[in-house]
Amino acid sequence: MKYKKIAVNLIFVTCCAVAVFAVAYYSMGDSAKQSEPYSSTFYSMSTMVQQSLYSNNAQEAALLLQTELVEFEQLTSLYVASSDIAMINEQAGISAVKVDAITASLLAQAKGLTLSSEGAFAITIAPLTLEWGITTQSPSVPSNEKIEQLLLLVDDSAVIIDEENSTVMLKQEGQALDLGGIAKGYACNIARDIYEQYGVESAWLSIGGNIYVKGTKPNGEHYKIGFRDPSSTEVASVASVEIKDAVFSVSGGYERYFEEDGVQYHHIIDPKTGRPSNSDVLTVGIIHEDGVKADYYSTALFVKGMQEVIAYFEQGGTGMAIDIDNNFYVSADLEQSFELTDGEYTPIFIKAK
Ligand code: AMP
Ligand code: MG
Repeated sequence: MKYKKIAVNLIFVTCCAVAVFAVAYYSMGDSAKQSEPYSSTFYSMSTMVQQSLYSNNAQEAALLLQTELVEFEQLTSLYVASSDIAMINEQAGISAVKVDAITASLLAQAKGLTLSSEGAFAITIAPLTLEWGITTQSPSVPSNEKIEQLLLLVDDSAVIIDEENSTVMLKQEGQALDLGGIAKGYACNIARDIYEQYGVESAWLSIGGNIYVKGTKPNGEHYKIGFRDPSSTEVASVASVEIKDAVFSVSGGYERYFEEDGVQYHHIIDPKTGRPSNSDVLTVGIIHEDGVKADYYSTALFVKGMQEVIAYFEQGGTGMAIDIDNNFYVSADLEQSFELTDGEYTPIFIKAK
């Protein structure tokens, strides 16, 4: 099946229901244009992107999204030499860099979030992500000395943003930005805005562990999203949940990793240790109407650990998470739309206090 070929950790579980409905709707004549979704798949932001839209303007909206994601990557990728982020990194400790208003506003939002992460999330993590190279072709384990040295550069309070003039500067030479922890969530927000602009009422978008859902299926049913089993090498789901007008972002150590001397090293670095985070969370999925927040919280809570995940649900946050002992915690607001698909897990619902 198509979804197995790509490394998404969220799985649609009701494609069939959509297809069955589409056949019934097709016989309704004038509305036939909306009876089948317009779907497209393309590669962007180091991952496969899939979208499926019901609208008379679906193709135009889908194409515009593809163009805008390419532009967004050109602007904000650490790995594109001409990007705003690469320029800011190059000029670290030297001068402020004039950037696109999108870059400045995303950095301002990111900084606001990361400063409240109690050190679990840092957009200045780049010196370490680059040294580990986990998302590159040649990853390796850095020496302890190197890690200690690079840790001194991780400090989000040193990101100086002037939103009015659209300039950004990193205070210290050697510092560097990596927006990998929130960029795909932002991409979901771009999709949200484009779908809105084109009057798309029903759609979903999947981009590297983040799924955005707009509206309901044309028959009024909710879209159901699968939550991937972190201990399975297959893309299998442990549960599904209904989503509407929200982003479901998932972080897990199984997403990207390499092995050295029999040890697995994944791509989410604990800014306190400079090493892949070693918390008790195997996977955490957060649902939020703002894609940046969903993406941020899933990464930050993956680093923080299950106690913090539970506290987040108690404070009214929405999502689900599995820990190293296979405890499966789900925020109680999802109880009605939640469906267990793997009997080996027993969900523990956490109520907001
Ligand atoms: P995600 O898949 O959304 O959990 O984000 C993981 C990506 O965020 C990594 O590939 C890095 O680019 C970046 N990253 C890794 N560790 C951190 C961290 N502690 N804080 C912020 N970003 C991080
Ligand atoms: Mg994230």
